[in-house]
Amino acid sequence: MYTAKEESMGETTLTGLMMDDYPLSLTGIVERAELLTPEREVVYRRPDGKVHRTTMGECAKRARRLAGGLAELGIGAGDRVGTLMWNQPEHLEAYYGVPLMGAVIHTLNPRLHPDELAFIAEDAEDKAIIVDESLLGVLDAFRDAYNFDHVIVVSHSGEIPDGAQAYAPLIDSADPVSWPDPDERRACAICYTSGTTGRPKGVLYSHRALVLHSFMAALPDQMNISARDTVLPVVPMFHANAWGIPYTATMIGAALVLPGPKLDAESVLDLLADEKVTLTAGVPTVWMAMLKAIEAEPGRWDLSELHRLLVGGSAVPKSMIEGYQKHGLTIVQGWGMTETSPLASTSSVPPELADTSPDEQFEYRARQGMPAPFVDIRARGDDGELIPWDDQAMGELEVRGPWVAAAYFHGTGAEKFTDDGWFQTGDVVRIDHRGSIRITDRTKDLVKSGGEWISSVDMENLLMGHPAVAEAAVIAVPDEKWDERPMAVVVLKDGAEASPDELRQHLSSYFAKWQLPERVEYIDEIPRTATGKFKKIALREQFVKATV
Ligand code: ADP
Repeated sequence: MYTAKEESMGETTLTGLMMDDYPLSLTGIVERAELLTPEREVVYRRPDGKVHRTTMGECAKRARRLAGGLAELGIGAGDRVGTLMWNQPEHLEAYYGVPLMGAVIHTLNPRLHPDELAFIAEDAEDKAIIVDESLLGVLDAFRDAYNFDHVIVVSHSGEIPDGAQAYAPLIDSADPVSWPDPDERRACAICYTSGTTGRPKGVLYSHRALVLHSFMAALPDQMNISARDTVLPVVPMFHANAWGIPYTATMIGAALVLPGPKLDAESVLDLLADEKVTLTAGVPTVWMAMLKAIEAEPGRWDLSELHRLLVGGSAVPKSMIEGYQKHGLTIVQGWGMTETSPLASTSSVPPELADTSPDEQFEYRARQGMPAPFVDIRARGDDGELIPWDDQAMGELEVRGPWVAAAYFHGTGAEKFTDDGWFQTGDVVRIDHRGSIRITDRTKDLVKSGGEWISSVDMENLLMGHPAVAEAAVIAVPDEKWDERPMAVVVLKDGAEASPDELRQHLSSYFAKWQLPERVEYIDEIPRTATGKFKKIALREQFVKATV
């Protein structure tokens, strides 16, 4: 029995132990959906384009059978189960079933190189893999390099390759399990950071971290998800937990629309309109293409129900936020990392700025925004000192919080964590007096010329605001005199033209003369990483090595 008072250091305090120490586990999230919102729809567009409808209750029930089937195969507490799937109901079932049985879901990104996939499957020691049949080719490319004990195929054709078994009968023949008593400190999922350099590093999430992340993500100033929402995550479930949307929607009882592999602008727009989606989320590349499609055929898609687009993963150009607003669509920028579960900040206009001009408000929304509750931020300049929050000084952002990693799996990359418990993000920011961050670069991409910073991200954003420019990346090139100079690599829009002088003139509205890039190169397409970011390493190899 607890007594209401406890003695501590000679003082009598009222104890907190009179409250239930209820575990913050994903079990609570999924069981709530099963009990209270089982009819909430989960809509899925299959690779063949057909739309399939199920419910959250059905997925939760099937997750119990999936867990039963996995247990029969010998998967137990703490074992890692890989997935190679799209945004599809079976992936949701694995999101539910694997962690709730006490195992750990490892979402593999099919866009990675086979060597990298083999590396991360081995690093995580995945025992089994659940793979959609449309991704069997990806699995085949690294199956020789890493041997899963069990390969489970989600198949609509009924064809199952040698050495594998089908998902449907595994579920159908298994007894549904009762979930074991949850423990909030237990691991539930692992994701690998994409990393533009070096080997990927594992981030091992706890139930507690993802539950708290779900509470935060649902808040009005974050994703703003309610039971009246229909949410379409374009961001894949193999990328940083689809930004937490599957668990947040399940916790809140929002309907889900899972788009499968067809993510071209028209296909996504069709789904957004047909399913009356209210909230969607994804990286800027996707929305860039969609804006073009909307502008090419105004009125074709009825998006009157769509109230918010969460855009993040890369900087969101102001021109894009403005472009969508013209069509009555509100972009909310989010910033985060695999290491932060991933959402850590979102950008919205604070009430004090409600009366400022539309341009100032767009400017503010193009920032990465204020940290979410319980995410602490600080930034350290080149001299190792913490920078003032004056929106001028630049420094590397450090974060800590209940859904921020404290270490990588196997203890790799320990240098990213400070002795006093902060994670060093590698993002270079300015912070204003409100605590709103503005990413000016990533540490490895920073251009430092003559001892002064030049923000390649700002330069890219401004270049992308030029009417002739489709895409632009800015990289640092070595320079004898200045140490580094910026170089712009530009993709022009079809049929458009802009000379280097014209682009420099455009940039000079914001950048000092000494900051303008001497070199402007034109290419057809900017190479991207598996997660859709500019692959600056490839650009450096192409343009820097060629000239040094
Ligand atoms: P994700 O792409 O899901 O956010 P990653 O771990 O792959 O997660 O990448 C995190 C990095 O992506 C951040 O450190 C930052 O450099 C970049 N990033 C994420 N969101 C933004 C944003 N809104 N603006 C600029 N950069 C961003």
